[in-house]
Amino acid sequence: MVTKIMNDKIYDISIIGGGPAGMFAAYFARLRGLNVSLIESLPKLGGQPETLYAQKHIYDVAALPKISGTDLIKQLTDQLSILDCDKYLNTSVSSIDRKDNLWQLTTNNETIQTKAIIVAIGNGSFQPRKLTFDYAPELEDKNIEYFVNSIDGFKDKDVLVAGGGDSAVDWAIDLSKVAKHTSLIHRRNRYRAMESSVKKLDDSTVEQLNPYIIKNVDFNSDNHNKIDVTLKMIKTNDIKVITTDKLLVNYGFVSDSKILRDWNINLEGPFIKVSQEMETNLPNVFAIGDIVTYPGKLQLIAMAFAEGPIAVTKALRNLYPEKDYFEHSTSIFEK
Ligand SMILES: Cc1cc2nc3c(=O)[nH]c(=O)nc-3n(C[C@H](O)[C@H](O)[C@H](O)COP(=O)(O)OP(=O)(O)OC[C@H]3O[C@@H](n4cnc5c(N)ncnc54)[C@H](O)[C@@H]3O)c2cc1C
Repeated sequence: MVTKIMNDKIYDISIIGGGPAGMFAAYFARLRGLNVSLIESLPKLGGQPETLYAQKHIYDVAALPKISGTDLIKQLTDQLSILDCDKYLNTSVSSIDRKDNLWQLTTNNETIQTKAIIVAIGNGSFQPRKLTFDYAPELEDKNIEYFVNSIDGFKDKDVLVAGGGDSAVDWAIDLSKVAKHTSLIHRRNRYRAMESSVKKLDDSTVEQLNPYIIKNVDFNSDNHNKIDVTLKMIKTNDIKVITTDKLLVNYGFVSDSKILRDWNINLEGPFIKVSQEMETNLPNVFAIGDIVTYPGKLQLIAMAFAEGPIAVTKALRNLYPEKDYFEHSTSIFEK
């Protein structure tokens, strides 16, 4: 893919992946006075806690006895906003190339230039699991959505939510508060969501359509702003066509870390091999979080939080040896 270098900006560190590992590493690098970009393929930061288990609770992050996935990401976002860095959302890095001692990151948008890279891509790039049949591409983002970018887009609309996990159930409940009418379609009679969320769903105005699968989506012939969603009841020939404004599909996410194979980076299985200082085999390319392996590695947020400062400190030593002195944050903020 050929992308243009849109500006002359050269970052000290570009962090690929805006999950917990990347977010904290970005903050720590800013704390050390570095010029940082944080690149995330999804429309929002947060990685697995925000995308896969927003409402579940985490009990093993130091000093936080119990925190939901989404609240942890809110805390990280608030912390990052204190020193802020350049964030590139909806931006997926496809390749990294070395030129004139700099790294060039090719993305689906622009090319980003940087002196060092921290790869924090977790299990790889998340993509929403999509409807499996063909539909008119114009419907996507207008009538068919895979993310809620703005709740206002659902205000006073007829809405169908598809899926049976936490995200689908929670969105159906939340959207029913602003939408004209909300239905939830699931292919089973039981949801895979938390009991408390299912109870809220039962107490809400959401119409529950199960066990149904979606067979087709097309423009409504009378009103092109609406869509006809064809549903089939599981194990029967019962077909239902519902005319609606919006279909929000929440079938979960698929991840892919295969791109790494083209980056000439040493792997062990699907993971990046790193040294004690989080170095990869490539100059000034570090890796942290779920994507790395080393003796004793655990795929835990607590470990990802520790790996960021190690990688940033080594990068700082390589790039600016004269700045290589240690200071606690208490002293840095006093200045
Ligand atoms: C259900 C569940 C429960 C869990 N519970 C706990 C728990 O209780 N305690 C705990 O410590 N851990 C828990 N974990 C694990 C924890 O969430 C992970 O260890 C943590 O999210 C790893 O963070 P990360 O930043 O390395 O990766 P991720 O959170 O996976 O974030 C990586 C980010 O990189 C982005 N990305 C990937 N490829 C690219 C690319 N090419 N370009 C741009 N962006 C890219 C992705 O979209 C993603 O946002 C749980 C995980 C799951 C699935």
